[in-house]
This record gives sequence, C-alpha cells and structure tokens, in this order.
Amino acid sequence: MSAMYELMGDVAVVRLTHPPMNGLSLRTRQDVMQSLERAAVDPQVKAVILIGSEKAFSSGADISELGSTRAYQEPNLLTLVQTVEQHAKPVIAALSGVVMGGGLELAMACHHRVAVKSCRMAMPEVKLGLVPGAGGTQRLPRAIGVEPALNMILQGQEVPAEVLHELPEQRLLNQLVDSWDDLLREALIVAHQAAAAQAAGGALPKLSALSCRHPQSESYFSFARTMVKGMAKGLPAPMQCIALVEAATQRKFAEGQALELQVFKDLMASTESAAFRHLFLAERAASKIKDVPSTTPVRDIQRVAVIGAGTMGGGIAMNFLNAGIPVQILETQQAALDRGIGVIRKNYEAQVKKGKLTQDKLDARLALLSTTLSYGDIAQADLVIEAVFEDMKVKEAVFKQLDQTMKPGAILASNTSTLDLNHIAAFTKRPEDVVGMHFFSPANVMKLLEVVRAEKTAKDVLATAMALGKKIRKTCVVSGVCDGFIGNRMIDPYFRQAAFLLEEGCTPMDVDRAIEKFGFPMGPFRMSDLAGNDIGWHIRQRHALEKPHIRHSRIPDLICEKGRFGQKTGGGWYDYIAGQREALPSAEVLSIIESYRTQHGIVARKIEAQEIVMRLVLALVNEGARILEEGIAERAGDIDMVYLTGYGFPAWRGGPMHYAEHLGLYRASQWMKRFAAMPNADSDFWHPADLIEQLAAQGLGFADATSGEQS
Ligand code: NAD
Repeated sequence: MSAMYELMGDVAVVRLTHPPMNGLSLRTRQDVMQSLERAAVDPQVKAVILIGSEKAFSSGADISELGSTRAYQEPNLLTLVQTVEQHAKPVIAALSGVVMGGGLELAMACHHRVAVKSCRMAMPEVKLGLVPGAGGTQRLPRAIGVEPALNMILQGQEVPAEVLHELPEQRLLNQLVDSWDDLLREALIVAHQAAAAQAAGGALPKLSALSCRHPQSESYFSFARTMVKGMAKGLPAPMQCIALVEAATQRKFAEGQALELQVFKDLMASTESAAFRHLFLAERAASKIKDVPSTTPVRDIQRVAVIGAGTMGGGIAMNFLNAGIPVQILETQQAALDRGIGVIRKNYEAQVKKGKLTQDKLDARLALLSTTLSYGDIAQADLVIEAVFEDMKVKEAVFKQLDQTMKPGAILASNTSTLDLNHIAAFTKRPEDVVGMHFFSPANVMKLLEVVRAEKTAKDVLATAMALGKKIRKTCVVSGVCDGFIGNRMIDPYFRQAAFLLEEGCTPMDVDRAIEKFGFPMGPFRMSDLAGNDIGWHIRQRHALEKPHIRHSRIPDLICEKGRFGQKTGGGWYDYIAGQREALPSAEVLSIIESYRTQHGIVARKIEAQEIVMRLVLALVNEGARILEEGIAERAGDIDMVYLTGYGFPAWRGGPMHYAEHLGLYRASQWMKRFAAMPNADSDFWHPADLIEQLAAQGLGFADATSGEQS
C-alpha cells in the first residue's frame, strides 16, 4: 500500500507510505484517492489529515512516469488535487521534510496546512523543462503573493517553511511546529477546529477562491520577461512560467488552470523536457553499480591525505576541507608545499571577497589543512589520493611507498588521467584497496568525479569512493580502466575530427562557432587554448608509438611546433592580448592551415554548421557506444552525465548518447556512413560501432542495451 488509512477519533489520517520520498506514482494516487473516498462516506469522519513521513510529505510526480501514459492515467495528479479541494470535509495537510512540485500542489489544494518549520518547499518543474501542471502556477501566487511565487516557480529552489511563513500576507501556512514529533498533534487540533467551523456553517477555505493581484502588473511582468529572457537561453519553460503567473492575475482560476494544463502537456512533449528528465534519472542511476548492492558496507573516512600540491592536488584537498574532513598534503619539497598552500588560500580569499564565504569559514577550513614532507605523518589517513606528475615511474615510487607506509585498510586512490590503473595497483601488495578518483580541473569547481574501477578493486572500496564523492558533492560515475576512461577517451576522437575539419576547409572559428551555437560553452579550439595545446601534443606523441593506426591531423602539431600552446603562451589557435581572454583570429594559424592544404593538394570546401556539429557529436557518440560495448560504462546515461558535468554538453540536449537516441540510431549510422564516403575521410573512424549497428537494425536505443538504465 502506498497510503494508509487510520481513524483517530473523528479524524481520518491518510498517511503516504511510498518510500523513499512519497512520489505521487499512479499507485500512490489511487491509494490516496480511495482513502479520500472512504473518508467522504464515513459519517463518523469530520475531517481528514494528509501526512507523509518525517523525510518527505511528498517529492511530487514520479519522474520515471512522466512522458508515459501512466502520468495522465486516472486518477491523475490534477484529478487528485481537485478531489482534495472539493472534498466535503476539511482536509488538512501536515507537512514535513520535502514538499515539492506535485506534493506542494497537493498541499495547496487542502483547506489548511500545518508544517514543520524546517520543511523544504519547492516548485522544481522548471528544472525539468516543465511548468507545474496541477494548479501550482495558479494557487501559489494566491498563497504567497505574485512576486515570491514567480521567484519560486522560476528558480525551482527549496525554500524553508519558516521563510515562507514570514512573507507578508501569506496564506499558505496556517501553523508552524518545531518538529515532526509535534506535527500530527497540531494537525489534529487544526482538524477539530476546522470541523467545528464547518459544523457552525462556515465554508471550507480554498486558495483557488482567493483573488490574485499585483499593484504594477504590467511593468512587473515586463521586467520579469526582460530579466529571464537572457538567462533562459531560448528554453521555453521559464517564459511560460511568467505567462502563467501573469494569467493568475488576469483570469479566473479555472481558466488559468486550463491554460496551465495545456502548457504543461505541450512542454512535456518537448525535446528539451525529455532531455532534462533523462538526465534527472541518469544522475540517480549513475550511483548504482550492478554488482555492488547499496547495502555494501563502506569504510570510515575521517582523514584524507593528498600526494602532490600541484594544480590538481590543491583543488582535490579543497573538496574535503569544504566538507569538514581534515586533509594532509605531502610533497617532496617545502617550496612546492608553500606554493600549493598559497594557491588554496588565494582561492578561498577570492571567495571571501565575492561574499561567497565568511572569514570564519575560511579560517575553519584552513585549520583542517596540514602539510608534510614525510610519509610517516600520513600513515594513519583513511584515504590517500595521489596527484603527482603523470609519469608511471613517479607513480610507481609513490605507490610502493604508500604500500609500505599506510595503515591496513587505507584506500589508495590515484587521480591519473591516462595511465593504466591496473598497472599502478600492481605496484602494491594490496591492489584491492586501489581505486581511481579522477577529478576534473579545476577540481574544487568541476562537478564530475570518475571513479575508476580497476580489475581488483574491492567492492567496499568502490562503494566508499562513490559515497565519499557524494559527500563532497560530486556527480560520481564509475568507469572501467581504458585509455582516458570515459570522458577523455571520447574527447580524443572529437578533437581529431575538429582538426580534420580544418584540413577540409574550416577555420578554428567556424568550428567553435558551430558547436557553441549547438550549446557547448566553448568550442574545441577555444577549449584547447584554455587547457593548453601541449597536453594533446603529448598524447599524440604517445599515440604515435602505442597506437600508430590512429590517424591524426598534422595541423595541431604544426601549431604546437610554433610554441602556440594557448592562453598561457599568449597564442594558440587564436591570438590573445595579454591579460585578456578574448579569442582573436590568428593570421599565423590561418596561414599554417592554408599552406598545409596547399602542400597536400586539398581544395578547401565550404562546410555547413550542421556537418560540423554532426561530425563532432557523432564522434563522441561512436566512441561512447564502444565504451558501452566494452563495459567500461555500465549505462548510456552514465556517459551523458560525464559529458554534462565534465565537458559542458548542453543539458537541454540530454548528453551525446541521449542526443543520438533522439536522432535515431539508424539515422546516426547513416550520417556516419555518409561521412566515411566523403573525400579525405578516415573511413575507419566512421565505421559505426557494432552496438549502434545492432540496435539500429532492431529499432532499439542504448537504454535497451544496458541493464538498469533509468531504474
Ligand atoms: P602538477 O604538475 O600541477 O602537480 C604535480 C605535483 O606533484 C607537483 O607539485 C609536484 O611537486 C608533485 N610531485 C611530483 N612528484 C612527487 C612525489 N614523488 N611525491 C610528492 N609530490 C610529488 O600536475 P597536475 O596537473 O596537478 O596533475 C597531477 C595528476 O592529476 C596527474 O596524474 C594528472 O594526469 C592528473 N590530472 C590532471 C588534470 C589537469 O587538468 N591538470 C586533470 C585530471 C587529472
């Protein structure tokens, strides 16, 4: 049962019991509906209380149902909400924990609301490319005022009940209580009062019956539109939120609700909302590992040590300091330690200057940080993360030393981006304790953490790394061992394709512009100038030795041979004015590209933006499919999470794998075959992955190929 019915004197208590968050799935709606009907016909019942668990009244719609017919199946959310409001007896919402989306809409249909003051209320639909669909845009402005309501609906952020209770003229919350323990008792008091008021002839109070006005309606909504337009980046939902709240001020409630339902249905059918919903589910699925049950015990991590205070070591340390976990940093030289600590301090000070951190917090975080030159000092750490030079010899020395020094049970993690983790684990006598924790730069900012599972990594070590990643607020995705893991392995063909486009007729700016218009914050050449073109140069040199069959364009090497490593050298694919980041076209680069073409007899052709985008995105997709085939990633959604959180793939397109599914895998493979047949094309490159061919032939998608997808 997803709802329980209990009689407490003359009050029917309907308890939502659908863990973990009382999502309003079809089953829950049916059960609540039945309880409401039972209360309606029982002459003993004088009032009804709707209550959830301490953790959640309700988190709202079941996202996995959205987009399917189950979402609309009766009793749908709107029917349930209307039944509550039209109930013959007073219905009291007893609110605790999370009250979100459909959960808040359900609460607003009740006649009275009692809330634990810390309970978190939100209208998060906009984050899924939607608007509230069960009266939320019409009741919330009536309940808390037009401006606070529009802010809540547009931002989708949680607001504590006690903050809403303080709003002038709020009519959302009748009563606040301190804790869950007081909630039912207080709700029963309100229920008895409401029953008495009704018995005395009073009408049941309804938020929908209240008037909704804004004193400067026209100028306020026009201001809101101007503010939101730039931020919405062409996405339809935010502007629709404004239109619907405006409708609440201009139209009768029923008209506003009908309009809201229409907009909700239209947005539900949009590709943007499908992409956001996919990512929402993919994020939750990514934390699950097929053969590592959620009940796997995790190791206790109280102290962390980081080896290396360079670019990555410092950022990695900050993550743990921010979470209140003490960190020791170990280096070979005092000067390197001083430099590293200096950078950490400067980063925190910049946050204080921007008002994002208080001085007290800065002091508290730095007090958790200590430094050492001796392995003996870190022996008792529960987790050590190595972030030294990307050189197998250096890693070998460090891991042999860690194996000798660290206490039994300590987790030994490496932040390597390209080296073989199985090889690194074999430097120790405890390979089961070795795991990859691949942070992205800047490590204190980037959300992505690839947790790399080596052949012998123990399940509890993997589970601990995932749990810890979550604690430091990263999006964790498990990757198997391969060159570049998930993210960097896929970015390699993407960059190779970008360079081939230069050979065939594009300028760096043509390529960057096309992919930026597609939605990436930065095209491959601007990105490479930021990261340093020398990184790719070294990778190509390694590939030339290890993977001579892989074809690379020579143009990026020619750029590097001129010392054009990017922003740090004042020039790369573009020119840069000292101290500025604006990418300016470079005559030198254009002339290098042109002379390369002349030398190789290539006649430049005009390449349309669509071809540029498809070649770059399908380069990602094809490699992603191979990664799935090989079991390096467990689910296509995991790959999408990597690209969303680590590489700036536009969220409203759902990630490369979702994008390809939406395009259709058959059509994706047709595109690849077309590219393979073009002059100068690398036909091996464009050979569609077997998985794509198989799925396309059966009319299936990636989700059908991988177990546990979106579950
Ligand atoms: P870096 O050169 O900035 O820092 C490396 C630090 O390690 C230096 O401070 C150096 O003094 C120290 N070090 C070297 N040998 C040592 C030893 N034996 N013992 C203790 N300290 C030692 O390098 P980085 O960019 O921070 O990269 C570190 C690791 O992180 C590499 O494995 C790299 O592949 C990986 N990584 C880097 C990035 C990135 O964007 N920079 C991203 C992800 C992963």
